[in-house]
Amino acid sequence: MTDLTDLGVAALRDGIAGGDFTAVEAAEAFNANIAAAGVLNAFIVATPEHALESARKVDADRAAGKTLGKLAGVPIGMKDLFATKGVQTTAASHILEGFTPEYESTVSQKLWDAGAGMLGKLNLDQFAMGSSNETSYFGNVISPWRRCDGGNAAMAPGGSSGGSSAAVSARLCPAATGTDTGGSIRQPAAFTGISGIKPTYGRCSRWGIVAFASSLDQAGPMARDVRDCAIMLEAMAGFDPKDTTSLDLSVPAWEAGLNANLKGKKVGIPREYRVEGLDADVAKSWDDGVAWLKDAGAEVIDISLPHTKYALPAYYIIAPAEASSNLARYDGVRYGLRDLPDGANLQDMYAATRAAGFGAEVKRRILIGTYVLSAGFYDAYYTQAQKVRTLISHDFKNAFTECDVILAPTTPTGAFGLGEMVSDPLAMYLNDVFAVPASLAGLPAMSVPAGLNREGLPLGLQIVGRPFDEQGVLNAGLAIEQRAGFTARPGKWW
Ligand code: GLN
Repeated sequence: MTDLTDLGVAALRDGIAGGDFTAVEAAEAFNANIAAAGVLNAFIVATPEHALESARKVDADRAAGKTLGKLAGVPIGMKDLFATKGVQTTAASHILEGFTPEYESTVSQKLWDAGAGMLGKLNLDQFAMGSSNETSYFGNVISPWRRCDGGNAAMAPGGSSGGSSAAVSARLCPAATGTDTGGSIRQPAAFTGISGIKPTYGRCSRWGIVAFASSLDQAGPMARDVRDCAIMLEAMAGFDPKDTTSLDLSVPAWEAGLNANLKGKKVGIPREYRVEGLDADVAKSWDDGVAWLKDAGAEVIDISLPHTKYALPAYYIIAPAEASSNLARYDGVRYGLRDLPDGANLQDMYAATRAAGFGAEVKRRILIGTYVLSAGFYDAYYTQAQKVRTLISHDFKNAFTECDVILAPTTPTGAFGLGEMVSDPLAMYLNDVFAVPASLAGLPAMSVPAGLNREGLPLGLQIVGRPFDEQGVLNAGLAIEQRAGFTARPGKWW
């Protein structure tokens, strides 16, 4: 029998529905891979029983001739930012250690309703703040990928959804959830040779997801290919009255709508993304992407997004500002950790809990956020950043009068080694330079694998679409996927 962990979402779903294997067999296969991959530290907790229980139900439903859900029997990984009822939810922070929600996030509930099972809670950067998964209280994730230099330097899986990217690329799960505030689905997908899509802001409910920056946070899937992303996203998306920013729109049949023929479509190439000193391999993969999209029938044109260079500074004002407000709720009273030194009063308890509970990067963001929101600096920083955000949205709006989707690299380089960037937060923030503009504008954006760089590490291409046009993004992604022929996998060393 084929190794079931080599199968993606569509193949698992179809194989189970067709009786080629059972959902329990699929869950067992992935549970075994997870148990054998502890060194990657991709999961904060594994939940093998959860996966088996859902699988048993799917097998019983199938035997009874019941209609199966869209993800019946597909076991998935859940980023530990989604509240899962009865299962510890930490956002990879000490301050939430031991927090077991009494409720289920809307997105995870939708996945279970579609018949998926949970293999475990995936590691991430603490409160989703980071680009390398090194800010997790539970230790960094190690990417399954290694440089082809014969050395064995441990590589970053990207962040913040680094557990998700490592787990999918190491075959610990066929798909995982991610969240993307400023690139956290796309960048880790690019670093590990998998696909991931951040839908239009509002497509997926934020209810029950630990909040980082509420005007930017979006959930989305990470999987091995474009079709699997489409299937996952269909199950995750949809209006939710519990989230006031949820879009009241029906969910399109994205999988059925997949079409890699781009005849009549225009693809914009933003000239401002051709930054000085752009990595040669990244530039080459971008050129490949242009050729592939032309081959798929698209017309490729130059476009301008003139305010691009202000996106990163604006993001690193707006995201920390919102984070400083959202994270005020962790005070030692309601959730998780409480540090109550002898003789402490309430203020002391707040201070001690937050000092002990938050990691360094989280504290840095709270400090920046509090500063830019303070009375004396609000207009100079926060208001100004919001104005820049509007200009960036207008750039995209103008561009989309000329083109249907935009093609750019996902990241300025391939993956870096663990420890190579942590001491330089600004260099780390630069990783998000190509991802953040689409986040600020709330646009759907996807990363698909495009090839390997000179170090033997994956590179991703990013497609950005008009609001609500996930289909256009997925279709361009599929056109690239079919031509890139990306079949590389990390050699198994763990
Ligand atoms: N790397 C970015 C940050 O640190 C994006 C994080 C995210 O999208 N959650 O803020």
